[in-house]
Amino acid sequence: MKKYQEMTKAELLQEKQQLEAEYKKIKEIGLQLNMARGKPSSEQLDLSMDLLNVLTKDDILKAEDGTDCRNYGIMDGIEEAKELMAEVVGCKKENVIVYGNSSLNIMYDQVARAEIFGICGNTPWSKLDKVKFLCPVPGYDRHFKITQTFGIEMINIPMTSEGPDMDLVEKYVNNDERVKGIWCVPKYSNPQGVVYSDETVRRFANLKPAAKDFRIFWDNAYAVHHLYEDNQAEILNILDECAKAGNPDMVYQFCSTSKVTFPGAGIAALSSSEENLKDIKSKLTVQTIGHDKINQLRHVKYFKNIDGIKAHMKKQADIIRPKFEMLIDMLNEEIKPLGIGNWVDPVGGYFVCFESLEGCAKEIIGKCKEAGVTMTGAGAPFPYGKDEKDSTIRIAPTYPSMDELKKATEVFITCTKLVSVNKCLE
Ligand code: PLP
Repeated sequence: MKKYQEMTKAELLQEKQQLEAEYKKIKEIGLQLNMARGKPSSEQLDLSMDLLNVLTKDDILKAEDGTDCRNYGIMDGIEEAKELMAEVVGCKKENVIVYGNSSLNIMYDQVARAEIFGICGNTPWSKLDKVKFLCPVPGYDRHFKITQTFGIEMINIPMTSEGPDMDLVEKYVNNDERVKGIWCVPKYSNPQGVVYSDETVRRFANLKPAAKDFRIFWDNAYAVHHLYEDNQAEILNILDECAKAGNPDMVYQFCSTSKVTFPGAGIAALSSSEENLKDIKSKLTVQTIGHDKINQLRHVKYFKNIDGIKAHMKKQADIIRPKFEMLIDMLNEEIKPLGIGNWVDPVGGYFVCFESLEGCAKEIIGKCKEAGVTMTGAGAPFPYGKDEKDSTIRIAPTYPSMDELKKATEVFITCTKLVSVNKCLE
């Protein structure tokens, strides 16, 4: 197979004609498939059904310290749930608050609180002329939506294979006191699957922020979401590194069991320094008398400890790994030799991030849609939905069945070829 860039005009035209015929046939089938949803499949959800049976009405629903989990109280989570979530991210349970069912909700709250009340006695962000956030790109669209909603100016920071470009991060954070935060997904990032290197984590911990209330929003959403038994990423513990560097209060870490048990019905946690927790609790106590302790207890009884979670996640990996591998194999076979796309083979997380030729992503996604395959919207992984190069496409292979995924990938491949061939003919 020849790269499109090396083909003559006549060869490209011939290829185009063939692809157009193929595309027409696909459209006639009337498919209805979806590769946009970063959700577990129902087969994965089935793995957690026994979670619903670990508590029965004969249980007294008492936490270890005797708390009756059926009743009000314990605003920051039962001790054993703190312990479990601390193990997930590798911190001390004293640094954890266990919330309700969503980590995104905690992130929103953190930004809202900073806006309304200020962080640890600092000026509320809403009273400042300008507040800026650094946004490693491509990234998680819902992070960017939070900062956009509060009118925070977002600055793109390119990702490298080791994490965000730290020269740029240091330049902004250390020199501009209007820069108040950065969104990070340090392990198996959404959407690229990048794992932050030790050097990146240390450089984060050693930042010298111009703003006293600068915080790293460390969203460790995929802490236990490995695809392989023998190739599992470990990242340095950001709370420890920040403490060692004399910046104990610089980070809020988030995690949840959304993609471990049931999205929307798991448990979520924040971990941070003693000072930050004190600041947060002073407001949280007004917001709630306590979260769902029955669900916290249920998760602890079901998993017991981190080993229980690891064993469970191995079963999840056994379901989704073949999907990732099939997708990557098909791309390797059909796209790589033509020189019309790049991606990094992920070893964890939920996505494959496809980089098309510049100026092609929107059209590829549009053509897929026309042929009945829904992809994540073009530009979604960027602040304000703006992908300057129009080349990033997030592929989510977990939700469809193998058969559906195969068909959807075939459509994606045809559309990518067709749009790329037209690009090379321009
Ligand atoms: N953070 C990241 C990076 C995600 O990809 C997702 C879901 O896709 C979430 C957070 C959502 O987490 P939760 O369900 O705990 O709100």
